[in-house]
Amino acid sequence: MNMQIDHAIAEGGNPSTLDSSGYEYSYTEGAEHIRSANLKTALRNLEGVHRHLCPRQVLGARIALFAGEYLDLELPREDKRLFVFVETDGCALDGIAVTTGANVGKRTMRVMDYGKVAATFVNTESGEAVRIVPRTGIRSEARNYAPEARNRWIAQLNGYQVMPPHELLLAEPVQLTVNLERLISRAGVRVNCKVCGEEIMNEREVVREGMVLCRSCAGDAYFERLAINDQLLVHSFA
Ligand SMILES: [Zn+2]
Ligand SMILES: [Zn+2]
Repeated sequence: MNMQIDHAIAEGGNPSTLDSSGYEYSYTEGAEHIRSANLKTALRNLEGVHRHLCPRQVLGARIALFAGEYLDLELPREDKRLFVFVETDGCALDGIAVTTGANVGKRTMRVMDYGKVAATFVNTESGEAVRIVPRTGIRSEARNYAPEARNRWIAQLNGYQVMPPHELLLAEPVQLTVNLERLISRAGVRVNCKVCGEEIMNEREVVREGMVLCRSCAGDAYFERLAINDQLLVHSFA
């Protein structure tokens, strides 16, 4: 089973009707159904990231473009003027990352793993923030915008590209409850954990009874060490 068919199943399509070339539902150069030049650019850039284009990537791109308009920020960006909280990983995140220029590696994006196609976009200079989600019911409404589509998946893929923003998305101004400055922290701040000795950046250390600890050693580990003799671990790094 290839990736494209996987996606079709994940998003409610019927794999048996998919084109084996995978190209029927990909966007085509100059196609009239592409809503804007910006979306077209975003979708073209996405093709460099993914082997295919899928409805969730399109949704991510539409969400991002809408955020850019709402916050009056040009996209994609090289700078750190825009910070994005994305509420799921996966294809929607790629759509948002490619369209905005924000990403985890650049420290302008944070994944809040709530399992939702939703994101909050923050203008880091003004503090203005907007959370954008797809409206409920768009899966079936997409069909009205792509009546020629052979299945639901293709209807979503094509429909999401042309649905007017107010029918596709919901945007609401929000205020962050996390401290963005602390989240971003400062470059060059480094300490070492008193227990494991490993270096900690970005002020992620925890202080317990005056001891500087990493989150793992402070009890917040996502793993358990298997080696009984920790000398082995130490020597492997020497
Ligand atoms: Zn996908
Ligand atoms: Zn530690």
